[in-house]
Amino acid sequence: MTRPPHTIRMHAADNVAIVANDGGLPAGTVLADGLVLLDKVPQAHKVALVDIPEGSAVRRYGVPIGYAVQSIPAGSWVHERLLHMPDARELDGLPIATTKPPAQEPLTGHTFEGYRNPDGSVGTRNILAITQTVQCVAGVTDFAVRRIKAELLPRYPNVDDVVALAHTYGCGVAIDAPDAAIPIRTLRNISLNPNFGGEVMVVSLGCEKLQPERLLPPGSIPLVDERNVADVGASADAALDVVCLQDDAHVGFMSMVDSILRQAEQHLERLNARRRETVPASELVVGVQCGGSDAFSGVTANPAVGFCTDLLVRAGATVMFSEVTEVRDGIDQLTSRASTPGVAQAMIGQMAWYDAYLARGRVDRSANTTPGNKKGGLSNIVEKAMGSIVKSGSAAISGVVAPGEKARHKGLLYAATPASDFICGTLQLAAGMNLHVFTTGRGTPYGLAEVPVIKVATRSDLARRWHDLMDVNAGRIADGEAGIEDVGWELFHLMLDVASGRRKTWAERWKLHNALVLFNPAPVT
Ligand code: CA
Repeated sequence: MTRPPHTIRMHAADNVAIVANDGGLPAGTVLADGLVLLDKVPQAHKVALVDIPEGSAVRRYGVPIGYAVQSIPAGSWVHERLLHMPDARELDGLPIATTKPPAQEPLTGHTFEGYRNPDGSVGTRNILAITQTVQCVAGVTDFAVRRIKAELLPRYPNVDDVVALAHTYGCGVAIDAPDAAIPIRTLRNISLNPNFGGEVMVVSLGCEKLQPERLLPPGSIPLVDERNVADVGASADAALDVVCLQDDAHVGFMSMVDSILRQAEQHLERLNARRRETVPASELVVGVQCGGSDAFSGVTANPAVGFCTDLLVRAGATVMFSEVTEVRDGIDQLTSRASTPGVAQAMIGQMAWYDAYLARGRVDRSANTTPGNKKGGLSNIVEKAMGSIVKSGSAAISGVVAPGEKARHKGLLYAATPASDFICGTLQLAAGMNLHVFTTGRGTPYGLAEVPVIKVATRSDLARRWHDLMDVNAGRIADGEAGIEDVGWELFHLMLDVASGRRKTWAERWKLHNALVLFNPAPVT
């Protein structure tokens, strides 16, 4: 059954709409309003609704996403070669906390079954994570983890998994460079993610620059410090559990591996004794991001995530949106939505830092878009950003999290991270994320070992083909089969089920685990 020609316009001021039909529409197609297509227009690509004179704005989401390189007759395919990209909005003279988003009705009564940690945070999974100070120990740790899974884990059925927090950080990083603080605090804060129950154990080489005490100084793991001090009367300094491979006591490889297993067992015993308990939905710390975006991302999946973001904020939860280069072009929307001038200034500070970081590498935000984005109908970063930013919903932005820092309050937060899926996910883990939502249009099988990842497809065609990789099909919105609110609520309920361990995401079922990737703006020697 072929559907009648279907185009979607996002805003009354738009002079383009995107083609929704699978496979696109051929030249000569007559749209519902009588407009005849002059070109074949691929799915998710733009069609000019009116004649657009040379030099005038092409508008989508009510904003200029570019300026016509030549005159574009109504009914033409508006592809990226026909658009000049506008300059990025300057960071001065922005509206500061001018919009007061209406306070939304609190959403009460929603709960999930989580692991309450002694520090008050809540895990959605019960995982033993093994921290590594340096890449040199990754192979040994990986070997040990395989043995832990085979020999120990079956005896501890309440523990979901054992994960080596592997990373590429070595002594090459100029550790005293100011920017090296970012990868160091990222590693520290990931070790303290709520899904690991405060059971920090470290594998160290011995000679590395990033010594365990520098990574996790006394006091950085309060719970473990307190327990160990109370249990054995040790000083807080002695509380950090470190297996050092260069330790004289280790003779031979298996001696190192056995040490790791011995230490792991103590943590597994404590983790295994934990039980899920009913906690309010406000304990969710959700990181949202997108990857492999297309022009539907901003029409279906991201607006549904945005609706769900509002539900979560109303329920008192924490939601982080990120991806600097994908929100940079909407900075005025964000600063105006800040709950206080201080929050707006913190966002501007993060954007300015990132502008300078990109300029140092002699690129700008336009380096973000991929060939797949363009094939998916996104002409440039402005168009991509307008579709990305809607994941943040409509609530006031109540805080900013610098890269690698922990989120310190609830509500809607801007966590400043690169748009790279892996770096963004890694930094959101460090911020304390216990559930991840990921939207995709082109399709990516992304997953993390540390936290469940719920994937939302922007198109029904993708959801059908990747039926055992996509958890939610937001393409039904473009098909006219569901509203943004319907998919938003579906996602909200799925999140509570996944957080409770009642449902596993596809990425969990297949154990699709992408690497942690540290954001390291510091020089490497
Ligand atoms: Ca991304």
